[in-house]
Amino acid sequence: MKCTKCGKEAVAEIKYAGIALCREHFLSFIDRKVKREIREQVHFNRNDRVLIAVSGGKDSMLTLYQMSKIFGKWRNLELLAVTVDEGIGDFRVNCSRVAHKFADSLGIEHKTISFRDYIGITTDDVARVDKELAPCTYCGVFRRKVLNIYAKEVDADYLVLGLNLDDIAQSVLMNVTRGDTPRLARMAPHTKRREGFVPRILPLRKVLEDEVRLYVTLTNIPYYPKRCPYAPLALRDTHREFLNNLEKKDPSVKFSILRFLDDVKPLLEEKYMAQLHPCKICGEPTPQDICKACQLEMRYHTLSKGGQWPSESRGW
Ligand code: SF4
Ligand SMILES: [Zn+2]
Ligand SMILES: [Zn+2]
Repeated sequence: MKCTKCGKEAVAEIKYAGIALCREHFLSFIDRKVKREIREQVHFNRNDRVLIAVSGGKDSMLTLYQMSKIFGKWRNLELLAVTVDEGIGDFRVNCSRVAHKFADSLGIEHKTISFRDYIGITTDDVARVDKELAPCTYCGVFRRKVLNIYAKEVDADYLVLGLNLDDIAQSVLMNVTRGDTPRLARMAPHTKRREGFVPRILPLRKVLEDEVRLYVTLTNIPYYPKRCPYAPLALRDTHREFLNNLEKKDPSVKFSILRFLDDVKPLLEEKYMAQLHPCKICGEPTPQDICKACQLEMRYHTLSKGGQWPSESRGW
């Protein structure tokens, strides 16, 4: 297979675009895609502080690298990085070590914060106590909350997440199959600033997981290669498999899902985005009286004392 652009040996076949690319052209193809995407999502101002959430996995490490490559020399933009330790054995501790070293090498200040410190409960705690809900249900909700609180603590204007196109297409599908339209409406990137909520930017939004993998391999970007031990319990894996099978027949299916989201989001935002207000317990923005994280905390504490908690209801 030869590069469509220069005729050299190709390292990647980009099926959705009908091209093949050599190492050099593949890297610049991704670089351009990321730059364009950031430009579409945000216009940074002088003295903006930008917090990058780094799990230590390949996606967030590529995000950190790209942010440093694009904005590292901007004198008026400050880049910071954070890893959230969810308390999953020593999994995230190992991830965080890799993230810290890489951030350091790029000259970006990096800090690790934990569920233990911010919520008082770890993902291992909930996995032990709650036999009905998958640990990821707690973990994802707690992480969103902790990141938003921390971003406000460090006065960040934006929060950058390393989600790739596969992650986003899976989330759209999960929200659709759960009938969770409000969550679909609230999906990042956030173009409007809302009280109490740090807008989220997704530079890898149009980069497939396979492309991320190839990019970090070709450029030797370090990352922690193991998966979270709870990942196989997540519903997300079913959607991942479904989409990957569909992609074999339709290489652009994940892009089509993204386009669907971009088309319907402005309409959904009108209906659902006006309803955020401070949680009565913790003050974080929520569409309900009590935010999902506080509800889950109450559920955990009830179950851990041997009490009962009603099954998750979807309202029918
Ligand atoms: S796979 Fe689930 S439990 Fe593991 S870090 Fe991700 S959300 Fe948390
Ligand atoms: Zn080439
Ligand atoms: Zn709350």
